[in-house]
Amino acid sequence: MITITKSALALAASVALSTTVSFTTHADNTSLKTITKDITFLASDELKGRGNFSKEIDQAADYISQRFSEIGLVPMQGEKTFKQSFTVTTIKPESIAVTLNGNTIESAHLGMASTIEEIKWQSTEDFTLHSIGKNDNMRQVISKINQQGGKHLVLINPAHKKMFTGYSGYFARGLNKLSLDHQGAIVMVMTEDSSIETIKVHAKTSIAKQTLTNVVGVLPGNEQKDEIVLYSAHYDHLGASADGEGDVIYNGADDDASGTTAIINLAEYFSRKGENARTLMFSAFTAEEIGGFGSRYFSQQLNPDDVVAMINIEMIGKPSKFGSGKVWMTGMERSSLGEELNTALDNQAFKIHKDPYPKQNLFYRSDNATLARLGVPAHSFSSTQLDTDQHYHKVTDDLASLDLKSMHQVIEGLSIATQGLVDGKITPTRVDVNKVKSRGKIY
Ligand SMILES: [Zn+2]
Repeated sequence: MITITKSALALAASVALSTTVSFTTHADNTSLKTITKDITFLASDELKGRGNFSKEIDQAADYISQRFSEIGLVPMQGEKTFKQSFTVTTIKPESIAVTLNGNTIESAHLGMASTIEEIKWQSTEDFTLHSIGKNDNMRQVISKINQQGGKHLVLINPAHKKMFTGYSGYFARGLNKLSLDHQGAIVMVMTEDSSIETIKVHAKTSIAKQTLTNVVGVLPGNEQKDEIVLYSAHYDHLGASADGEGDVIYNGADDDASGTTAIINLAEYFSRKGENARTLMFSAFTAEEIGGFGSRYFSQQLNPDDVVAMINIEMIGKPSKFGSGKVWMTGMERSSLGEELNTALDNQAFKIHKDPYPKQNLFYRSDNATLARLGVPAHSFSSTQLDTDQHYHKVTDDLASLDLKSMHQVIEGLSIATQGLVDGKITPTRVDVNKVKSRGKIY
């Protein structure tokens, strides 16, 4: 799951495995032993937190591929292996010099996000000018510009120093882009000036390409072959910090080795059963933590209209607010999926709850949002207690902090709850794309 700020603090506490678990109806479609084995490897120190662009994330991809192969899945149409590789472009400000109204602006007062390699602006005709005064909402203005795309120069009153520093630092660390289709730039200048008499901007951006890989396996349908039920989770996490003492590995056991383990074990169950009417697709996405590039690339490799539903599984390693083994979903009101699953579950102890943290905007904070923007009933299923979780995006999000029995129950519950989708009996309403917020164009 994506967050805005990332704490790098290492907490040394190790939390004992919870031993008190109350079981509800138990079908044993999946095995706790296999689940334990999968998550133990994916969350191990050996994989160094499955950081994007690391060699250890490739080991995780190998493991998932191997499991898909044992299970008997086949690659996506047109692919030879389970690995779906693609390139992302990293843009990073290299140099920036601004002279405003005759004054050279010091570099600490400049910030930039640009997908253009070199900028040479000489007059106000070269860009759109914005001025953010003391009482203006800086976040709103910058975000609006990002939605528009194009070339922008923003004069920012020093009253916004803290937020300016936040943005410029974020831009300076480099931004990843799936494509550079939208050419645009935002140049930020912190200054008391709110208008321009003379201006000179000269800036350079470095543009580098790197490879990322999704792992996608398919269980072809027996009847409605063209209708896809997509089970997904992201297998990347935050990696390890280069400096620091003690534990520096962000194991991401809950986020999201738990979801990745779930889709592997659901694939195993449905493959063994072999009765799926619809085609089932299992996708372990890369790069969720750095901007959701895995799901974005994936969504361009198939016709989203064929995807009947997306069950994205995020952070199910611990009991939820509703109890052990209970799960909730994001954006329940955006399609009929949750309601229809619950109707089918009428006689079971398991039920899908509504997202208890609507203010956290969780619908937009995982890979489901990408498919939802294309109309797919795409939701994230989770059990995290995000409001109180001490381990979220910390090095202590490791195996010892999980409750594997609760996690097993969630996976069992999802195997039962989604049966109607697998059988072709449930077809949820599509998401209204006009009601889904679009993505920014520059950063
Ligand atoms: Zn996360």
